[in-house]
Amino acid sequence: MDFQLDSLQLELRDALRRYLEAEVAPMVHAYEAQSLPVPRKTVMAMKDFGLLGGLLPEEVGGFGLPMTTYGMLICEVARVWPSLRSIISTSNLAASVLVEGGSKHLIERYLPGILSAEKLAAFALSEPNIGSDAAHIETRATPTADGWKVNGRKLYISVGTIADVGVVFVKSPMADGKQGVSCLLFENTMPGFSTTGIPKMGMHSCPLGELLFDDVAIPAANLVGKEGQAFSLAKKYLNVGRCVVAFSALGIAEAAYEAAVKFSLERSQFGRKIAGFQLVQQMIADMMTLVETSRLLCYRAADALDRNAPDAQALCSMAKRYATDAVLRVAETSMQVHGGAGYTALFPIERYYRDARHLSIAEGTNQIQSMLMAQTVLGVSAIR
Ligand SMILES: Cc1cc2nc3c(=O)[nH]c(=O)nc-3n(C[C@H](O)[C@H](O)[C@H](O)COP(=O)(O)OP(=O)(O)OC[C@H]3O[C@@H](n4cnc5c(N)ncnc54)[C@H](O)[C@@H]3O)c2cc1C
Repeated sequence: MDFQLDSLQLELRDALRRYLEAEVAPMVHAYEAQSLPVPRKTVMAMKDFGLLGGLLPEEVGGFGLPMTTYGMLICEVARVWPSLRSIISTSNLAASVLVEGGSKHLIERYLPGILSAEKLAAFALSEPNIGSDAAHIETRATPTADGWKVNGRKLYISVGTIADVGVVFVKSPMADGKQGVSCLLFENTMPGFSTTGIPKMGMHSCPLGELLFDDVAIPAANLVGKEGQAFSLAKKYLNVGRCVVAFSALGIAEAAYEAAVKFSLERSQFGRKIAGFQLVQQMIADMMTLVETSRLLCYRAADALDRNAPDAQALCSMAKRYATDAVLRVAETSMQVHGGAGYTALFPIERYYRDARHLSIAEGTNQIQSMLMAQTVLGVSAIR
């Protein structure tokens, strides 16, 4: 098995890295400290590197990248600005659902705006009473003469307060009287729609929101996928989402590890660089191993997705669980190497920890990933 990046991938990675370091890195601290959303033009600039619609086919305006290349790019962005990474991957997730289930008319109407980042898109599944148990959605869509009337609340929605459009998962009555999960495309200008920001621990430049749907009329043409069958649409992209989260964790872990290496070579105590102390070297070796094992699992999962391999689901869950746990240990160890400096906002280490902390919760908690992995070998579900 060969996980070497080819020359084209390396060229793309290096170009993105140069851009991020020169144009984006200098603004991160000030924006995060003031909780200012990532500027729209910074999101737009990511298009040039294949990051907007990266996985989508070229026929619809995407780049048709394999997951290994897209993951590599996501890792680069997360290394510099996790909030920017989250905005990009949330918009891409909504775009993928739209392309998978939307009519030609709906795709033509909304996709170009999302792929140019003129419109930011949200993916609204979670609710106040619905998190891990995502199938039991409570937001209701009632059929009307020309579409749907939507009522309910969506909670912890990334980009929620600044999204122009989004896909929302609702329960709708089926012809046989049962309730099925449907997906509808909404706009933030629809009467009855409103959002409230939710303060959080990190990722301050990617606002998190609660979305309120109060008798929001959504046209019939905005149905994405088949009525009552949209839960499979949401599930289909969960594996991709988990792999993306794993690469994001890898990016933050790389940044925290590299910062520790640099600091240990610069900081002196007892008349010598702290890099020369064996206990500091042990911390460096621990971080190095965690970063490298995360990288192996990320690329292994991405490769399995690209090949549509039968073990792709288990590997995506494994990469997600492992890398999102590992990044916290790396950030924590990097803080220890930095001593008091690592705890202050004068260095980015405490931000790495705060920005990484949600990754073991979002896109399916790590407990859910454990159960999904075990289920693939045991054939027994711990959930239903
Ligand atoms: C920063 C951030 C961004 C997010 N962005 C989005 C978004 O864009 N769109 C969206 O729809 N959602 C989003 N979410 C929501 C996220 O997907 C949910 O938080 C996540 O699925 C967990 O749901 P919950 O918070 O309701 O926790 P719960 O499901 O209530 O879980 C609470 C605890 O119980 C455990 N648990 C639950 N069920 C079981 C079980 N059967 N067995 C063992 N343990 C169990 C969990 O692992 C967890 O430890 C985001 C969350 C965060 C923090």
